Amino acid sequence: MLNVPSQSFPAPRSQQRVASGGRSKVPLKQGRSLMDWIRLTKSGKDLTGLKGRLIEVTEEELKKHNKKDDCWICIRGFVYNVSPYMEYHPGGEDELMRAAGSDGTELFDQVHRWVNYESMLKECLVGRMAIKPTVLKDYREEEKKVLNGVLPKSQVTDTLAKEGPSYPSYDWFQTDSLVTIAIYTKQKDINLDSIIVDHQNDSFRAETIIKDCLYLIHIGLSHEVQEDFSGLYYRKCQLISKEDVTHDTRLFCLMLPPSTHLQVPIGQHVYLKLSVTGTEIVKPYTPVSGSLLTEFKEPVLPNNKYIYFLIKIYPTGLFTSELDRLQIGDFVSVSSPEGNFKISKFQELEELFLLAAGTGFTPMVKILNYALTDIPSLRKVKLMFFNKTEDDIIWRSQLEKLAFKDKRLDVEFVLSAPTSEWNGKQGHISPALLSEFLKRNLDKSKVLVCICGPVPFTEQGVRLLHDLNFSKNEIHSFTA
Ligand code: FAD
Ligand code: NAP
Repeated sequence: MLNVPSQSFPAPRSQQRVASGGRSKVPLKQGRSLMDWIRLTKSGKDLTGLKGRLIEVTEEELKKHNKKDDCWICIRGFVYNVSPYMEYHPGGEDELMRAAGSDGTELFDQVHRWVNYESMLKECLVGRMAIKPTVLKDYREEEKKVLNGVLPKSQVTDTLAKEGPSYPSYDWFQTDSLVTIAIYTKQKDINLDSIIVDHQNDSFRAETIIKDCLYLIHIGLSHEVQEDFSGLYYRKCQLISKEDVTHDTRLFCLMLPPSTHLQVPIGQHVYLKLSVTGTEIVKPYTPVSGSLLTEFKEPVLPNNKYIYFLIKIYPTGLFTSELDRLQIGDFVSVSSPEGNFKISKFQELEELFLLAAGTGFTPMVKILNYALTDIPSLRKVKLMFFNKTEDDIIWRSQLEKLAFKDKRLDVEFVLSAPTSEWNGKQGHISPALLSEFLKRNLDKSKVLVCICGPVPFTEQGVRLLHDLNFSKNEIHSFTA
């Protein structure tokens, strides 16, 4: 499939083609997929033009590199030559060029905080921003202080022997809006469990546990700062089981680390992180409950220790093909949850309509479980589930059993490529299908419509819902 020349990539309806919310993904040229980028970074080609040398970059120097074929961007004090990456950037060249020759940290955090750029762009690293002493007034106005730079050794309180492989050091970088403190150690796999950060008034303390020693930095700030410990926290979870649900979709059960308590709120997703040929790849997934039917739930598994995912494996998919290769006992990193779904939407809810296509069914799982058990005002729940064929329907028999058990629930399957034996609904999301399906049972009832699937499906659905006079508050669309 990767080499079919006549097919444009991403395919016209691929989820990679368009993203909502004004942030568009652009069609990438053939040979410019993420996997192609990883291959290029491993090819040994000099991607910075500096033959592996790392340099200190001044602001003046950074500003000069502002053209497509010579584009440097600073992220958290580190400067990358992103020209070789231009054609591989899913957001397109223009989006990257918005940060050309400047500090792109804020822009990056707004758009894709979860992308692991350090790993993706490691071969593009030009160096660090040069220390440019900014002389600012101390808050007591007693003396002038240098704000950017390496702290004199005498001001560092540390309990480690100065020799030895893991003796840490630190420095910091500052722009008008951001102070980044970097602690350098030789210790691998440091995670947030081993870091304590406290900030009160003008005192900033960071304690790092390295081996069995504690490294402390304690800084007096001369100006007020707001904390933003940006970056998602990942914990390593162990693959406990993997069960076929359809021919290409599996139920993955991951076990959280013993000291972690994490329950992903309804309607939210997490990011899973795996290393694919040495590069860390991150993709979003929506946790589900282990089952739709309570009697099928494993009785002994406490639900705050395990996290379930329904994941469709794409044979040429970069992440899912790697995920599918994991063995029971292997580890996957799981981020903290994100998403803007509010459970308050269910308050006093009387009718709930769910429109799902393919794995867009995943957010509907917890919604169904919650709505049917915890919303006493609810009179009707209707799910319209779009798939290609009968074989693609996730948890069909569970859905049918649930609808049989709870008379408030109706489920309709719509197939876009059914066999001749199928006598249910056929086709794609359309005004005709929706206007019939979304008929309110009660006049002026409190209604919510949730929709999730491939981006063009969701976008079309939302347009149709507006045409059918559903208000913004009555619609929740799941997107990235
Ligand atoms: P990709 O490499 O991105 O490929 C995607 C598609 O393009 C596949 O069909 C692949 O075969 C095809 N393709 C890849 N490379 C090429 C090429 N060069 N030429 C032609 N075709 C190509 N998915 C789930 O299964 N379960 C979930 O719970 C879930 N939750 C999500 C939550 C959110 C908020 C979002 C935004 C997405 C969610 N997804 C979910 C989708 C998921 O994040 C991934 O997009 C999906 O798993 C595909 O990832 P991949 O890296 O395997 O595929
Ligand atoms: P799929 O099997 O390819 O498609 C499911 C159904 O949707 C099929 O009937 C398909 O029809 C139809 N469809 C596809 N594109 C359409 C379009 N443009 N307009 C109308 N109908 C369309 O789906 P999948 O592979 O499981 O993909 C699921 C998608 O959901 C992924 O893009 C994933 O990223 C997204 N998702 C998002 C979230 C979230 O945002 N929270 C959560 C989970 C999944 P055809 O037969 O014609 O293709």
